[in-house]
Amino acid sequence: MQLQFLGGASGVGATCQLIHLAGRTLLVDAGVRVDAPDRLPDLAALDGVTLDAILVTHAHADHIGALPLVVARNPATPIYASPATTRLMEVMLGDAVRVMAKRAADELELPLYDEALVARVLRQLRPLREGAQTLPELPGIVVHAARAGHIAGALSIGLEAEDGRLVISGDVSATPQRTILGAAMPAPRRPDLMILESTYGARMHPNRALEERKLAEAVATVIARGGHCLIPAFALGRAQEVILILRAAQRDGIIPPFPMAVDGLVRSVCGAYAAFPDALAPSLRRYILNGGRAFFSSSIQPVDSPQARERVLAGPPCAIISSSGMLTGGPSVWYAERIASDANAAIFFSGYLDEEAPGRRLLDLADAPPGERRLRLNEKEFPVACEVGRYSLSAHADGDELTAMVRANQPRTVALVHGDPEARAALAARLHGLAEVLIPRDGQVLTVAPRKGGGRRVELPPTPTVAPLAPVGKGEPPDAAGLERLWQALRDGTGVQTLSLRELARAWAGAAGASEAGRRGGE
Ligand SMILES: [Zn+2]
Ligand SMILES: [Zn+2]
Repeated sequence: MQLQFLGGASGVGATCQLIHLAGRTLLVDAGVRVDAPDRLPDLAALDGVTLDAILVTHAHADHIGALPLVVARNPATPIYASPATTRLMEVMLGDAVRVMAKRAADELELPLYDEALVARVLRQLRPLREGAQTLPELPGIVVHAARAGHIAGALSIGLEAEDGRLVISGDVSATPQRTILGAAMPAPRRPDLMILESTYGARMHPNRALEERKLAEAVATVIARGGHCLIPAFALGRAQEVILILRAAQRDGIIPPFPMAVDGLVRSVCGAYAAFPDALAPSLRRYILNGGRAFFSSSIQPVDSPQARERVLAGPPCAIISSSGMLTGGPSVWYAERIASDANAAIFFSGYLDEEAPGRRLLDLADAPPGERRLRLNEKEFPVACEVGRYSLSAHADGDELTAMVRANQPRTVALVHGDPEARAALAARLHGLAEVLIPRDGQVLTVAPRKGGGRRVELPPTPTVAPLAPVGKGEPPDAAGLERLWQALRDGTGVQTLSLRELARAWAGAAGASEAGRRGGE
């Protein structure tokens, strides 16, 4: 068995894994890097490759956004996904096409694909159900799918064949949320290799119920003082959670009733969630099957036109739940521009904020002196007087949960992906002793090969250490500045690399340093 990371190993974004198993070739996920100049996984690796099947873990853009380009190369390959993911892919890819068309018109940016190609993706979709199954295109392979938590329809995928046993966690969360249950145990147990996401491998999440209550009370306080409260939220998953958190707090009398406005892509995702009650938490499923409207009511209204948007801000104070979550686009930017200068208003973030995102810059302004609190959005700069806050409602497992997953699944080897270098390094340290831990890079190939004397082992090609052309040390003993130069010269982008004393010495002092280190027994 071989697995190649075409993307999504070195960081978050463009997840794509090419797998050769039991004489078949398959792809798990094909995502994009959202709002990055280098958007795509290494699709060139698929040239000349015929894919027997494509499996999809869930409908976030970093896992499905490049699928239309894969289908363009492999028009007859079936795509397997859970029924809820199938419906959500239609919503998300449709939105991606609209956003790209708008950028093409506004900024002359070249769109990656169009509606016709998305329609071809949707025609190739086949249902992947939870549990063990065989697929007609993958004889000799048992495909396991297990609920992954995270968002509705998300699955962990397991593959089991004569030549290898593999688990791909996908994006995973063990903590139950209001919309969905937590992850189930992935299968098969004791795989040769587990590919594990590491987004929050370095963190412990705060208590969920406490964080939800804090958010609800903070929103109610803003509305009581007469301000509008904007909650920018990821359209798929987070926004539905926020609606249900506020709705439940009102129902339970924790906060007084107030109106809510739901805007952007959030609206159609809410519709898709309500159409697949089987993918939702049991109490929410029952509510929907009994005819309840899960995400809308007389006081929770969708905003469906620019005029309605104006009316929301002209009307009484309310909570506005709108995509995008990091203020990178969508109606949340429109609202933020208009309420930021109102000292009674508030903007509360509900999830991950990229270092470069406008939402992060706004959050950082909270520490700036009042006169210097100015934000640039959409080429405009304006003063910020509103309250700004952030609440942690993560849909990814934290370091404890990820460790518990490894302990329970007992893989021989774990490869950490989908996380920044700090998160992967911290998680690697936590997993020490539970499994062999690999920190692969994009482009690398992992091989599961028979081990001498029985069993199998996972081989990662050795990282070629590119020694600097000239010794970094220039004949001097190393000092702090010298060590930094050495680190800069040797870094390979993983953030985690193991070098022998001989390699370090060669980089610092050239061949003489290497032989000196060799004499001291450093390898
Ligand atoms: Zn995801
Ligand atoms: Zn992801």
